[in-house]
Amino acid sequence: MTLRAIVQRASGQDLRLCHACNDCDLGAANDMDIPLSSLVQLILLDDEEALHCRTLWSDSVHEAARHACKRGLDLYAVITALREEKLRRDGH
Ligand code: SF4
Repeated sequence: MTLRAIVQRASGQDLRLCHACNDCDLGAANDMDIPLSSLVQLILLDDEEALHCRTLWSDSVHEAARHACKRGLDLYAVITALREEKLRRDGH
């Protein structure tokens, strides 16, 4: 199963609705390495870098993601789902 499908199953969010508008970029925080929009694109590309980037574990990004998407995608739920997948793969 692709990362996009895993995220959709866990969060109910279909990232194929993303228009790559980059409006969800929140500005730089110390604990992020890639913009939120890039994290979304990595998931769509089924690129496992999405599971290893620091941005995934940034609590400030996680919180700000609630209302970040102008297309109505719940990126808070997306990050939560991706964190859960990473923890599952790590055996937690
Ligand atoms: S704001 Fe929403 S539609 Fe735009 S790039 Fe971010 S996730 Fe995609």
